[in-house]
Amino acid sequence: MLVDKFGRVIDYLRISVTELCNFKCRYCMPEDNQFNNIGRDNILSYEEMFEFVKICLDNGVKKVRLTGGEPLVRKDIQKFVKMINDYKPGLDLAMTTNGYYLKQKAKELREAGLKRLNISLDTLDAKKANFLARKEVLSYVLAGIDEAVNEGFVIKLNTVALRGVNDGELIELLEFAKSKNAQIRYIEFMENTHAASDLKGLKKDDILEILSKKYSIKEITKSPNSPSSLFVTSDGYKFGIIDPHKHDFCASCNRLRLSADGLLIPCLYYEDGQSIKEAMRARDYTKAREILKAVLDAKPEKNKWENDGKGEISSRAFYQTGG
Ligand code: SAM
Ligand code: SF4
Repeated sequence: MLVDKFGRVIDYLRISVTELCNFKCRYCMPEDNQFNNIGRDNILSYEEMFEFVKICLDNGVKKVRLTGGEPLVRKDIQKFVKMINDYKPGLDLAMTTNGYYLKQKAKELREAGLKRLNISLDTLDAKKANFLARKEVLSYVLAGIDEAVNEGFVIKLNTVALRGVNDGELIELLEFAKSKNAQIRYIEFMENTHAASDLKGLKKDDILEILSKKYSIKEITKSPNSPSSLFVTSDGYKFGIIDPHKHDFCASCNRLRLSADGLLIPCLYYEDGQSIKEAMRARDYTKAREILKAVLDAKPEKNKWENDGKGEISSRAFYQTGG
């Protein structure tokens, strides 16, 4: 079992399989992003990542999520899904994606053993989607969502709530998610040095205030390790709000992150990490386990965001860590 020094059991591994992305979302990266931070030779191969996944699964990890960058731009991602699923068929195996390539990929991902999909959808307005992603994306994303539903995936929709951008659409987005039998999770915008500086996020209370104009809402008990507060409307629809500006999910954090170039990261809002790349390339799995232990020992008790949102702005790029 993987346990950190605060006694938290770590059973959830998130892997950013690539930092590359076909979008350039304003809250995630600058317009002139060159994606040249890592370099091709430094990306772990699927085999190298898989050997590390096996170490984690053999030590009690029960959930693996593939993210990015955009995981569907990495070639043959379904092969990696299949490698992991074949090793532990009952595993909770999920992916976070912008949905653009799901129309083409949903079927093979399902066949490879992927079980759940979180799809990012910030707006139902094509112009706003174009503004946010800096590319015409909405029709592709919506087609991708439909394909995922057709393939029988359990889906969640991730919506970053932004003042003056999609605050007028939060109800419409909830209704859309409901129509697809999906849970929507509004995410507070997390300030970081790569995001456009003029974006202003809505906080949990702002989101609830907007939704309360249409629904009567009750907070309910969330699943123990989820970063998302859970709510239910009077007609029984459940939705979430992820508010990292509060520390209250840190106490039950069960996550560990691996970046595409092999950096093992104990906390999204914390600058440190240690690389397993050389150990995996040398097939020195004893060393990899030692690094894993050191990273768990370094997992901070709380993320460094302040309740008032005025904490130090993170320089960690979401497109490298996978959010
Ligand atoms: N490309 C995939 C996608 O967009 O779903 C996966 C990677 S993306 C970094 C993972 C999640 O992080 C997405 O749901 C995205 O909306 C969210 N995200 C990115 N930057 C964010 C920010 N500054 N604040 C809050 N959420 C952010
Ligand atoms: Fe790409 Fe996802 Fe970042 Fe948007 S949020 S730029 S889709 S990695």
